[in-house]
Amino acid sequence: MSVAIYPGSFDPMTNGHLSIIKSGLVVFDKLIVAVLRNPRKEALFTVEERVEMITEELKGAGNLEVDSFDGLLVEYCKRKNARVVLRGLRAVADFEYELQMANMNRHLNTQVETVFLMANDAYFYVSSNIVKEAARLGGDVDRLVPPGIGRRMKEKLAATKGS
Ligand code: ADP
Repeated sequence: MSVAIYPGSFDPMTNGHLSIIKSGLVVFDKLIVAVLRNPRKEALFTVEERVEMITEELKGAGNLEVDSFDGLLVEYCKRKNARVVLRGLRAVADFEYELQMANMNRHLNTQVETVFLMANDAYFYVSSNIVKEAARLGGDVDRLVPPGIGRRMKEKLAATKGS
């Protein structure tokens, strides 16, 4: 059985992430979306909230698991019996960083392969950061994130305003 792990911050999940997840669900027998616990990155949503939001958006997908992890990704892969790391590629800007990560992970564990899927062209320039920035300034990001997530962003930004 082919098990792939799609790791990331997903703060929050955008339609770009969602398109990669949907493709991953078709390509692999099982897909684990794994939210990275990264204390060095300031986040809008807690890891628990992000897991809950992804689960909510994708309920009904039988071969999907949503989880969180910290530490080395290759160690997490081992624990989950996964041989594939799935990543999404957007514009050229992603390439160098992704290449570095894939090479480092291969260096740490030769059993784990990184597989890239191309972003849906409608979401080629969409990132969580740019979506958060636009939403913070009052911009309309409704077509860039799933509706449930757009709603949660509005609530969260209203609650954190001024703090
Ligand atoms: P990180 O913080 O590690 O970059 P992200 O949550 O931003 O994690 O992204 C996780 C993965 O999803 C990365 O491989 C990233 O390139 C990919 N990704 C992010 N946004 C998109 C998008 N709009 N289309 C396709 N892939 C994307």
